[in-house]
Amino acid sequence: MSTGKNKKKGMSSKEEKERSLNFIEEIIEADLASGKHDSILTRFPPEPNGYLHIGHAKSICLNFGLANKYGGGTNLRFDDTNPVTEDTEYVDSIKDDVKWLGFNWVNEFYASDYFDTLYEYAEKLINKGLAYVDETSSEEMAEQKGTPTEPGKRNKFSERSIEDNLRIFREMRDGKHPEGSMVLRAKIDMTSSNMLMRDPIIYRIKFAHHHRTGDKWCIYPMYDLAHGQSDSIEHITHSVCTLEFVPHRELYNWFIEKLEIFPSKQYEFARLNLGYTVMSKRKLKQLVEENYVSGWDDPRMPTISGLRRRGYTPKSIRDFCDRIGIAKRDNLIDVSLLEFFIRDHLNKISSRVMVVSDPLKVTITNIPEGHVENCEIDNNPEDEESGSRIVPFDRVIYIEKEDFMEDAPKKYFRLKPDGVVRLKGAYIIQCDEVIKDASGEVIELKCHYIENSKSGQDTSGVKCKGVIHWVSATHNVPVELRLYDRLFKEEDVNAYEGDFKDLINENSLQIVTAYAEPSLKDATLEDKFQFMRQGYYVLDKDSNEDKIIFNRTVGLRDSWKK
Ligand code: ATP
Ligand code: MG
Repeated sequence: MSTGKNKKKGMSSKEEKERSLNFIEEIIEADLASGKHDSILTRFPPEPNGYLHIGHAKSICLNFGLANKYGGGTNLRFDDTNPVTEDTEYVDSIKDDVKWLGFNWVNEFYASDYFDTLYEYAEKLINKGLAYVDETSSEEMAEQKGTPTEPGKRNKFSERSIEDNLRIFREMRDGKHPEGSMVLRAKIDMTSSNMLMRDPIIYRIKFAHHHRTGDKWCIYPMYDLAHGQSDSIEHITHSVCTLEFVPHRELYNWFIEKLEIFPSKQYEFARLNLGYTVMSKRKLKQLVEENYVSGWDDPRMPTISGLRRRGYTPKSIRDFCDRIGIAKRDNLIDVSLLEFFIRDHLNKISSRVMVVSDPLKVTITNIPEGHVENCEIDNNPEDEESGSRIVPFDRVIYIEKEDFMEDAPKKYFRLKPDGVVRLKGAYIIQCDEVIKDASGEVIELKCHYIENSKSGQDTSGVKCKGVIHWVSATHNVPVELRLYDRLFKEEDVNAYEGDFKDLINENSLQIVTAYAEPSLKDATLEDKFQFMRQGYYVLDKDSNEDKIIFNRTVGLRDSWKK
């Protein structure tokens, strides 16, 4: 996809957005207009079992965005019903990521805060004859469940009396029964075409320590009981989630009806899938644990923390999420669209600096040794307020090897024998002599600078079409550049039937040494840079006194070819 096409896509979307509402906005506007709700309350409900990724960002931007647009609020709710996979490390990273994206929640809640209420709900269902303790083995239970085309059957445990169910359920709670020996099931309909309605398990025994409730419980509600009911407990008006929850909606509504509680309404949209990456936390975790990447925040990861370390800005991610809108059917988004938005933002805000990654020595023979001239260069021509900086210019400099060509075509405007080129922010130089090593490789150029040709004060009258970047050979800082490529070799990783790790691109990280102008010694993690004619870069947190490391966020142009 070309940048031009992307640009059009990016722009037309804005116009489009102003014109039309998405289907959830239409529903909200109707609900507010009819007086069904006075204000709205949405929620973002992550399971703290991994770091957030760009798909979650889509959900965050949607939920918080709706509340911002309609003057409501959003709860951050940790769906922490599974005591085994959850960790406070994940809770902290999730909060950081949501804040970094630019959103504030009105309440920080935990599904585990509702364990008492959920337990009461379970007893209420039992008392209504709508739940029973089942001691069937899980294999047998699966068999009795039937198949989508064959109805399931109830077993003898479903006939238990309310009193027995209550007594045994309380024994379960009190730790009187071993793990796996029995479960509590909702008594709904074993013949339903929706398999989730066939007497789903709602409580199980698990002698596990929970990161918040400690050892208080040895029974835990199943996700389906906790998730939908948490929305109701918080009086979430519009509970927005991804399409895989469509079949769960019937079950959530059943609980709401039977428990006679606040009727949250669920609306579903398509998950965001991005090309050349995976988006499941389980798979991302595998990449981390099996050392395919350096961590959850490896700059190749589609995690928010990875994108942040890679140099993405919150705005670029929000713009991207806005642009893709919400779909009713699953689709795969072209990763160049995400790159379009970061390039667009960085173009406006980044400081232009000079870094040479493949150096060719150039001696400027009419500058005396030891003489240093300070060149003042604007930081960002797109931003008048960004100021300027000093770059030292002297007798020996480096330019990129590819900016010199011996047998250059006529239209080659960089340096060639006898040719001229402008050194960015400094002088025009002319190439007088090409020095080669024994193998014939060019190892040095001897040039002279043209007097009175300094940038901004050029009265030399010399015509010069090309401008190249450079650094002083003595006044520079060596830096390590980390250049990233796609993490996977195939665009649609999910479509692959084998192990997704077969598709990992072994060459997704390339490390090169480069020479940067001295100002980069003072770079901070927040600074955004355009290395002139090369790409956008950001300092990496692995940098230290001895080594300055930069991550390439994205190239200057969309050079990705399918
Ligand atoms: P994963 O499959 O990555 O583990 P998940 O759905 O299990 O994701 P949760 O922590 O449960 O992760 O997700 C929190 C919220 O983010 C849910 O409302 C979920 O629907 C939404 N979400 C997760 N992945 C995506 C995605 N790819 N696109 C849009 N929303 C997503
Ligand atoms: Mg989930």
